[in-house]
Amino acid sequence: MKFEDWHTHNSFCRHAVGSVEDYIKKAIKLNLNLIGLSDHFPYEFLIDSFPAIKGVPFKEYAMSLDEIEIYLNSLEKLKVSYKEQIQIRIGFEIEFIENQVRYLNAYLKNYLNRLDYIIGSVHFIRENEGLFAFDDSNYVKKYDDYKSVDIIFLKYYKTLCSMIKSSDFTFDILGHFDLPKKYNKRAENKNLVMNEILDILELIKKRDYTIELNTSGFRRPIKEQYPSLEILHEIYNLDISVILGSDAHHPDEIAFNFKTALEILRKIGFNKLARFKNREKSFVDI
Ligand SMILES: [Zn+2]
Ligand SMILES: [Zn+2]
Repeated sequence: MKFEDWHTHNSFCRHAVGSVEDYIKKAIKLNLNLIGLSDHFPYEFLIDSFPAIKGVPFKEYAMSLDEIEIYLNSLEKLKVSYKEQIQIRIGFEIEFIENQVRYLNAYLKNYLNRLDYIIGSVHFIRENEGLFAFDDSNYVKKYDDYKSVDIIFLKYYKTLCSMIKSSDFTFDILGHFDLPKKYNKRAENKNLVMNEILDILELIKKRDYTIELNTSGFRRPIKEQYPSLEILHEIYNLDISVILGSDAHHPDEIAFNFKTALEILRKIGFNKLARFKNREKSFVDI
């Protein structure tokens, strides 16, 4: 079967290598059926409404608001010019920040009808007046400020829970489900954290969201996919839909370890993967 990679970045976000076209060309070379372009949506809209954002280098995390139009125009052109060679889908990976969604939507609403899908992700947890960008390697030492890594996991899952429950935050795919494990962190009280996860999965099922199997974890100290095998089994038991994403920040990372990912999914029992067009879900057999 030909792979589809639904989570890729490019130089628009300033911390990924390669132009959008570089990623498309590489995906064609790898004989992919489809590439989803899902660069980070700007954080810039938060500057006025959310002082905590000033503590993080958000300009290195995403394109600016001015660039959204340029990004979408260039993707729409490339989609047409490469249509004989590969299917292209246009998306964004968007940060959920509690109580800030209306500020996000003021910008996002202008572009929604041009998107095939949205990956909803959480890369920050709240800390008093500030934010902890727990997946940024520059801040990994901050994990030590916490008495237990479980506090980070629980804060993270609480935020994820708010994202899923939010009536105004719109998304289709939940990105890198158990991201705080990235730097080889594991919950100490496994049951406590797993109970939170099970509640979240029930919610995801109810709202019919899709969960991404993100292979970037294989490139990180944790050396495994997001979510873990244990969580994937629960996802399967609840019949929640899944999709594959590499989270490529370099063209060489496109479809990274997808063969392994597919084997993992098949072994658990999954027999289909989700896909999106104009924000509508369909399925392909695996
Ligand atoms: Zn990134
Ligand atoms: Zn992400």
